[in-house]
Amino acid sequence: MIDLRSDTVTKPSPAMRDAMARADVGDDIYGEDPTVNRLQEVGAALVGKRAALFVPSGTLGNQLSVRAQAEPGREVIVEGQAHIIRYEQGAAAALAGVQLHWVSGAHGLMTAEQVQAAIRPKDPYSIQTALICLETTHNAGGGTVYPLPTIQAIRAVATTHGLPMHLDGARLFNAVVASGVPAAEYARHFETVTFCLSKGLGAPAGSLIATDDPGVMERLRRFRRMYGGAMRQSGILAAGGLYALEHHIARLSEDHANAKRLAARLQQIPAVTIDPSRVETNILFFDVHSTKFSIPAFVAALKQEGVLINAVGGSTCRAVTHLDVSAEDIERAADHFARLLNNQAGASH
Ligand SMILES: *Cc1c(COP(=O)(O)O)cnc(C)c1O
Repeated sequence: MIDLRSDTVTKPSPAMRDAMARADVGDDIYGEDPTVNRLQEVGAALVGKRAALFVPSGTLGNQLSVRAQAEPGREVIVEGQAHIIRYEQGAAAALAGVQLHWVSGAHGLMTAEQVQAAIRPKDPYSIQTALICLETTHNAGGGTVYPLPTIQAIRAVATTHGLPMHLDGARLFNAVVASGVPAAEYARHFETVTFCLSKGLGAPAGSLIATDDPGVMERLRRFRRMYGGAMRQSGILAAGGLYALEHHIARLSEDHANAKRLAARLQQIPAVTIDPSRVETNILFFDVHSTKFSIPAFVAALKQEGVLINAVGGSTCRAVTHLDVSAEDIERAADHFARLLNNQAGASH
């Protein structure tokens, strides 16, 4: 199977499993797991922050960052297609008791003017803004990279209003590799930054939350326990994360090249609409208009050929490249797309 549904499907390599099997461990709730401690140090240094906290998932990383920085009854500004809104089961409302203020961005990106307009006035009637969240790369926006000047402009607005910022950097290193901007240059504009060790980096589980603020770190740690995300001998998992940070960041450029390769091949197919210039990292959205197949039938036919993609509504499909698909896999997948969609003779069957 050539699995292009998501970069979450990546599996730990034999070398990563070996590192995990050999990991030194201890009770991390006592702060005694040396491998977790090392991962937190390495991860914090990578994004230029003082400290980092290991958590089981990116969702928990986002939710602890929201809970630690926004009191119940406050408002959090977030782009309308953000992971925090679409894919976290309403946790910000259900668990943190905050209201999310949606801003419609372009391909997932807000402007400083939009953020400025979304901040509530400090009068006795208005709900009070507590936090601004950005997402890079933006998943539902198509793997878009926040331009650094846009982040800087939003930061200036946040500073004027005394508001903290959180970065959902689940795919931060895709943004880093695509833009050439060091992770710390992005991270310095945010009080908290999360990034996933799973997904394109290939670890089986785990994310880090990084911050400079010891008070925020203390709250993150206590809420991690409250939310059930504190683990014991989690060095086994952390070893996979360390291996991922050491070996799988630079190679993300191969995934980006493969995404562009697939986009260029799909553009040749008349039944596919895609703008290859919108493919910035490892996520491609495209539309399929076939006289032969409904979207579910097309996805099923591709699966018969050994290629998995996701239908995401209407005529739109999503494909994601990652470390378990090679350039040859991409060419083979594109051959299947072309054969299924170009073969009009097949329409009569
Ligand atoms: C995947 C993802 C997360 C975290 O998801 P988990 O499934 O909890 O690991 C957070 N934000 C974005 C943008 C993501 O794509």
